[in-house]
Amino acid sequence: MIYAANFKANHTRKSTENYIEALNAKLGAKKAEDKVYIFPPSSALDSYEGDFTVGAQNAYPTQNGAYTGEIALEQLDEFDIKTILIGHSERRELLNENQENIVEKFSFFQEQDFEIIYCIGEPLNIREKGFESVMQYLLAQFEGIDITYAKLTIAYEPIWAIGTGRSATVEEISTTHRALKNVIKDIPLLYGGSAKPANIKEIASIAGVDGVLVGSASLDAENFSTMILS
Ligand code: PEP
Repeated sequence: MIYAANFKANHTRKSTENYIEALNAKLGAKKAEDKVYIFPPSSALDSYEGDFTVGAQNAYPTQNGAYTGEIALEQLDEFDIKTILIGHSERRELLNENQENIVEKFSFFQEQDFEIIYCIGEPLNIREKGFESVMQYLLAQFEGIDITYAKLTIAYEPIWAIGTGRSATVEEISTTHRALKNVIKDIPLLYGGSAKPANIKEIASIAGVDGVLVGSASLDAENFSTMILS
């Protein structure tokens, strides 16, 4: 299983250090085949040591330059960061990233040989239209994306389940993952949306779920390590 923690705009540099210390104290007990990723905010990126990979939540697709408020490759290279989240629904919706911007970012970081966790997900009104509409919506988010890229992981995150406390049902996750796996084949597929200690076992046991991308429940190291060790 893959366990990825997305801190979003939570945690400081100091609290991330404390978090990693607390997490490291637990990770010795994790299964060797399980992989852990931490995506702290940009201000807390650093060269942390431990049995996990640190990635960037976002970066501008360029080496460096006049992009106010952004970080780029140079700032990631400083800490040897070679993993990035692309296409998160909060960036699509709140930061107005369109598919064209996302494809540009994806292609740039693919060229840089980054591990990419690429997020897709449908809003509630599409889910309510039925499964065919859901799949149509999700597949459109693959437009321009090289889904054969060897260092790619996909995260399916229904937007209506993100940060709401209401995870998708086992049936919803299972049918969507099965349909997505038919398209992405052997590419690992994560589920994201209110995954937490109380539902991790159930989610992890669904066929086609290779891991979880966790927001709220990852913010506390104790909680997140409970998920990893459960
Ligand atoms: C996310 O935003 O990637 C996410 C899955 O958030 P949460 O776990 O809080 O639903």
